Amino acid sequence: MSVWRRRRTHEVRIGNVGVGGPNPVVVQSMTNTDTADIDSTVAQVEELAAAGSELVRVTVNNDAAAAAVSGIVERLRDRGVTTPIIGDFHYNGHLLLERYPDCARALAKYRINPGNVGTKRRDENFQKIVRIAVENGKPVRIGVNWGSLDQDLLTELMDRNARLAEPKDAQAVLRDAMVESAMRSAELAEATGLPGDAILLSAKVSEVPELIAVYRQLAPLSEYPLHLGLTEAGMGTKGVVSTAAGLSVLLIEGIGDTIRVSLTPRPGGDRAEEVRVAQQILQSLQIRSFEPQVVSCPGCGRTTSTFFQEMAEDIQGYIRDRMPEWREHYPGVEELQVAVMGCVVNGPGESKHANLGISLPGTFEEPKAPVYVDGEHFTTLRGEGLVDEFKSILLNYIERRYGRASAGTAGD
Ligand code: SF4
Repeated sequence: MSVWRRRRTHEVRIGNVGVGGPNPVVVQSMTNTDTADIDSTVAQVEELAAAGSELVRVTVNNDAAAAAVSGIVERLRDRGVTTPIIGDFHYNGHLLLERYPDCARALAKYRINPGNVGTKRRDENFQKIVRIAVENGKPVRIGVNWGSLDQDLLTELMDRNARLAEPKDAQAVLRDAMVESAMRSAELAEATGLPGDAILLSAKVSEVPELIAVYRQLAPLSEYPLHLGLTEAGMGTKGVVSTAAGLSVLLIEGIGDTIRVSLTPRPGGDRAEEVRVAQQILQSLQIRSFEPQVVSCPGCGRTTSTFFQEMAEDIQGYIRDRMPEWREHYPGVEELQVAVMGCVVNGPGESKHANLGISLPGTFEEPKAPVYVDGEHFTTLRGEGLVDEFKSILLNYIERRYGRASAGTAGD
């Protein structure tokens, strides 16, 4: 259903998931549990996978974490969770992967940050990880981050820039250094034996205009699939909006093969929120569909009661609760559009655009709610049982349109 054309990239296989090439943009997430705590990590991976995360990354930062990885993967597979698990390495990845071969085998991909694989032995350490990836047939993401950029490379580029007749500004040199770090590392990885179709790149920053600029610079240089994300996006509305703003511009331009939304959860908050936000970004851009969308107006002075907001929320919650079952029985249901509108001004019009819509009565309007199905007036609801009646119409519509018996006629 995408209206955007993706740039051409290699296809990289990460466990049972394809990224790049003909594959849809893949949603991924990362745990925030102590990886050494197998119970908590397994539970959180399950939550993320149930929310729709197609890849899950775990930090592998010390011996205890590396020792736990194979047990985590084994437990997940025993519980029927097939989501590939990616290891996030910084500083000591070359040591841990060598010391814990089970960890190296169990992970579906390694993420290396070329800015922190060492100083004197940077290339040597980087190549050691790459060789282990080659031996185990694993892909690698070369993940550059402006918070941990290779300082020697930055200094080299700053010095070179200072000698130019018209030097670039410092921000532009920083972008150059990020791109150069990713590309030089990919070249070294290939020279070490890693196939080009086992490499992904990312270049994350925490400011939206910089994110857009650096990916625009990086994208045309290779066919390695790109992992997109605004690093350290922040909390709540700020994190969601900043990520959506940055990622949307790039995705519309066809840049990005897999995305992660790096939200800071509230203490005790739901980690799977980052998965839902990533899905919503892709669905809002009509790149992928994950669940039926409820279109509702913001309400205004024409809706003086809270009934309309409550109904919109109720319908959204009803759909979300039923989706695990509907996804199984009603293929294509994730493309359904439902409108819940507050008054006659835009209510009938918007309801007709949706598959199913209801236009509630605004203040001073006659207390009746016309329902539209596929653009036609279907019935008019009144009274207290209105919400349940609308849900029943919704369920009938889904069964009729997306039920397996009607496969082949859906879309009529
Ligand atoms: S549809 Fe009606 S209630 Fe909703 S925002 Fe527009 S005018 Fe207000």
